[in-house]
Amino acid sequence: MAKRVLVKYSGEALSGESGFGIESKILDYLARELKTLVEAGIEVGIVIGGGNFIRGVSVSQGGLIRRTSGDYMGMLATMINGVAMQEALEYYGLDVRVQSALEIKEVCETYINRRAIRHLEKGRVVIFVAGTGNPFFTTDTAATLRAVEIGAEMIIKATKVDGVFDKDPAKFDDAVMLRQIGYDQALKDNIKVMDDTAIALAKDNTLPIVVCNMLREGNLLKIIQGDSGAVYSKVSNEN
Ligand code: UDP
Repeated sequence: MAKRVLVKYSGEALSGESGFGIESKILDYLARELKTLVEAGIEVGIVIGGGNFIRGVSVSQGGLIRRTSGDYMGMLATMINGVAMQEALEYYGLDVRVQSALEIKEVCETYINRRAIRHLEKGRVVIFVAGTGNPFFTTDTAATLRAVEIGAEMIIKATKVDGVFDKDPAKFDDAVMLRQIGYDQALKDNIKVMDDTAIALAKDNTLPIVVCNMLREGNLLKIIQGDSGAVYSKVSNEN
């Protein structure tokens, strides 16, 4: 069983049908799922995107807002999600710290690697917000970076699909789910698991990327415990 993991959710994961904002029902569900990991003795780091509020690329498209500012706006959006998740996890009795790549000390701690590791060792969940703190990056890359920095054994990208398919399962009935993909294949085939920067960083550090469906109840814990009933795809060096 993996001892320390990093779970990555997109911002849209929190927004339900509307694609915007935060839906309490989903937040509540995710918090309950994450609680089962902590109760099983797993050290949990979390990164949540900000796409349910703002993406730098989209907001800067009209030319009125510069991309750099748009990206900072996106990073701030991830703070909103992180604080919401902290509240939900605390509601269920967990100890949680939010650490931000941008300093807003009235809201949360600033990211300090050693402090983050200490929190994890004490059984606290650490939510990393504000991405990498730099524009022109994504929260997938931020999540991979933090996973490597804290020595996580895997990064789990929790999505709305079961894993990686050879073609779009929404369009093709005969789409096949791939259980195992090499990093180079993931980059070459341009599979949209994560952006190339994130995959390359994972590859350089031989960090396995697990892709799974966050809506499959109990699946996260099964994956981490190595249960044979777990449903996921894995990008790693294994083939
Ligand atoms: N962002 C950034 N640097 C980072 C991480 C995120 O500038 O290191 C900005 C970027 O504008 C991005 C937005 O924050 O579009 C929200 O993150 P992302 O799009 O990765 O969120 P998700 O798609 O996972 O909801």
